[in-house]
Amino acid sequence: MSNSSNETPPIVQYSLLDDSNSNAPVEPLAWRVRTSKRVRNPKIQVFPHGGVEVVVHPRTRPREIEAFVRENSAWIERTRLEFRELRPDEKALPDRIELPAIGESLAVHYSGKGTGKTREAQGVLFVDSAKPDPAECRPLLRDWLKRKARPILRDAVAVQRDFTGLSPRRVQVRLQTTRWGSCSTTGTLSLNAALLLRSPEELRYVVIHELCHLEHMNHSKQYWRLVSRFEPDYRRFEHRLNRAWQTSPQWLIG
Ligand SMILES: [Zn+2]
Repeated sequence: MSNSSNETPPIVQYSLLDDSNSNAPVEPLAWRVRTSKRVRNPKIQVFPHGGVEVVVHPRTRPREIEAFVRENSAWIERTRLEFRELRPDEKALPDRIELPAIGESLAVHYSGKGTGKTREAQGVLFVDSAKPDPAECRPLLRDWLKRKARPILRDAVAVQRDFTGLSPRRVQVRLQTTRWGSCSTTGTLSLNAALLLRSPEELRYVVIHELCHLEHMNHSKQYWRLVSRFEPDYRRFEHRLNRAWQTSPQWLIG
């Protein structure tokens, strides 16, 4: 996915909390990079949910980006803290999880039984963590979401494969905080389990976006022309999905 400006959207993506990272501290400092040819000096933006975006010119080297973030780390931390204080109403752990993509809404029950398991029964998600605290439960919730998303997203790909005639070699489901999906040169399509928290239309769009990369591994004019054949309103979806990170619930982020 990319930004929706009219210049060539960037492909640079830095993954933050993916599968390998579920033991990370509750709120690690992580950032994503967006490139823009219009940006001369790097800029940092802190989002209300604590996400950090660095906007740089495409020619900026990773080492320079890291140095820039380090120089500004005190300001970043201060700003994240201010945001956190501004939103005291979000509970550390959700007592309900909405999954609009599949029209489900689940009450969440934390039992404190300590088995480290999650299970669903009759509209309730039972989380058996050792302690009912965010550090224990959030990774369990994220693992549950990944498992739940796998067959659903694979089905969504099958539907759009038939619609577009574009067929990936493999479908992978991961949980990340900066990208909705990706497509590799070897034909592997990766989708973000967090798509279950978006609308069915947005989920469908992300699948189409990634399938079209099987034809064009870039965001060229030809690429967008192909996308528009399957979703004429793609700009609106790009815009919406790029902003969606700002409202991701805390348990999903870290
Ligand atoms: Zn893309």
